[in-house]
Amino acid sequence: MRDISKGCKACDLYRRGTQTVFGEGPPTADLMLVGEQPGDAEDLAGHPFVGPAGKLLDRALEEAGIDRSLVYVTNVVKHFKWEPRGKRRIHAKPNAGEIGACRPWLETEIALVKPRVLVCLGATAAQALLGRSFKVTQQRGTFVASPLAPRVTATVHPSSILRAPDDESRRAEMAEFVKDLKTVAKAIRNSDV
Ligand code: SF4
Repeated sequence: MRDISKGCKACDLYRRGTQTVFGEGPPTADLMLVGEQPGDAEDLAGHPFVGPAGKLLDRALEEAGIDRSLVYVTNVVKHFKWEPRGKRRIHAKPNAGEIGACRPWLETEIALVKPRVLVCLGATAAQALLGRSFKVTQQRGTFVASPLAPRVTATVHPSSILRAPDDESRRAEMAEFVKDLKTVAKAIRNSDV
């Protein structure tokens, strides 16, 4: 599926991104993390969560006691959407049409991996997969009924922690993120499905 996705032209984002960035991880992973879209570093590398947000995610997973090598990571949109600002490429939020066009790739990943626990990272992934009424700020870390996996929840995207205005709030947000991931680790341990 990864190879086939390289030729996807189901929306216009293939014109803007360098390449399709498909999900990665063990094909039978218990845990799947779903973010919004690849960022600048991921677009160039062709791998998900390898940039600054991915490195923060690695640290948070380690602190939560989750083995990163056993996690499947992916995004609701597989191409980097960006706007030029000077010489920089600035993240642009994917729209509903782009998210919908890309959805079959994510559904295929979920169907093949069959994770026991699925975690949406950030509002875009949460609202795409759990509905427009899902509010990450209010419902983060709580499990909701979903046909996607036996246990489904959402938390913030690690990039939001990088955007914290100062060190103190960054530390506080990191602690909350790790707390959510510890809840996820517990759900994996206690899951009998
Ligand atoms: S963003 Fe998704 S649907 Fe759009 S071209 Fe890329 S892989 Fe295809």
